[in-house]
Amino acid sequence: MSAYRSYAPLLDKYMSLDQKGNVQAEYVWIDGANNLRSKTKTLSAPAKSIDDLPEWNFDGSSTGQSEGHDSDVLLKPAALYADPFRGGDNILVLCETYNPDGTPNMTNYRHSCRKVMDSYADAHPWFGIEQEYMLIDVDTLKPYGWPKGGFPEPQGKYYCGVGAGKVFGRDIVEAHYRACLYAGVNCSGVNAEVAPGQWEYQVGPCEGITMGDDLWMSRYLLNRVAEDFDVAVSIHPKPVAGDWNGAGCHTNYSTAAMREEGGIKAIEDAINKMSLRHNEHIAVYGEDNDLRLTGRHETGHIGSFSYGVANRGASIRIPRHVAKEGKGYLEDRRPASNIDPYRVTAIIVESSLAPTN
Ligand code: ADP
Ligand code: MN
Ligand code: MN
Ligand code: MN
Ligand code: MN
Repeated sequence: MSAYRSYAPLLDKYMSLDQKGNVQAEYVWIDGANNLRSKTKTLSAPAKSIDDLPEWNFDGSSTGQSEGHDSDVLLKPAALYADPFRGGDNILVLCETYNPDGTPNMTNYRHSCRKVMDSYADAHPWFGIEQEYMLIDVDTLKPYGWPKGGFPEPQGKYYCGVGAGKVFGRDIVEAHYRACLYAGVNCSGVNAEVAPGQWEYQVGPCEGITMGDDLWMSRYLLNRVAEDFDVAVSIHPKPVAGDWNGAGCHTNYSTAAMREEGGIKAIEDAINKMSLRHNEHIAVYGEDNDLRLTGRHETGHIGSFSYGVANRGASIRIPRHVAKEGKGYLEDRRPASNIDPYRVTAIIVESSLAPTN
């Protein structure tokens, strides 16, 4: 930990002051570099739904989302969450971004994802995403808990580790998990990962557009919680070169047909259709994913498609229990930790469900 001094006890005094009926709404959006931004607006009354919330705007020239001469970008409220930082009636508002002429901003992938999810709503697509990430020491810029000079002991004892010297940053993980549950993000579990300072949490199952919404909001919460601990978060797919596991966003997927008795047939059909568009999938499965999908460290190689039951070296894995029960879901292991989940869930649905001729 750095020379950072926490003012939390002092802040508590102010945070317990009466808001006099006002509500603080934190508008959150995705910027031009796949990061999150937010700013706060005071509302005079609690908001019950997204329709109660005004549109807003920001300076897109400061976020890589517009040119300087016409830089207003519009924020349209899209999904509502409880605010675990301010508590009470205060809210987090996930927004879509639009240009002055009403077209979606080039960074707004939710807009097109929603269209896809609407067209295939009858299939009831569910997703579960396993978000892997690395906590980063803000002073050394090395993974959190790594020695100042040199490297920690090789991988082996850290995955699902217990005890000092094996896990780094559990407080942050615990705080984030609870913040997700409070906010209404469907976080379904957490575990320490293979590299020291690396963690995973799962979000899902979520239906349709909710997967992208909940995953983005979970990342916002993670960055905010880690900020309180003066620790940074990296979702780069290969945060440390060498014999250290990269980071992914395994995307688990099912439709109503896959979840029914005999659904394995629909799962195999989806895998066959997805295999035909491997390169198109890889194109939206994250920047620098080639550094991670080497065919080593529990990955399939980026250049070829493969699948198998219980195979963690394949592009797509059918979990053992799914093969046994003959129904369930598939796991696409290709997406990197830095994906835009709107792009990934949209292409999976399109590839697997579009009619073929
Ligand atoms: P792994 O064994 O690959 O580490 P995890 O337990 O980390 O698996 O993650 C499994 C994910 O699959 C969870 O996010 C869970 O919500 C999701 N999941 C479970 N059932 C389904 C389903 N029918 N459709 C889609 N996702 C599902
Ligand atoms: Mn200003
Ligand atoms: Mn997992
Ligand atoms: Mn994992
Ligand atoms: Mn997995």
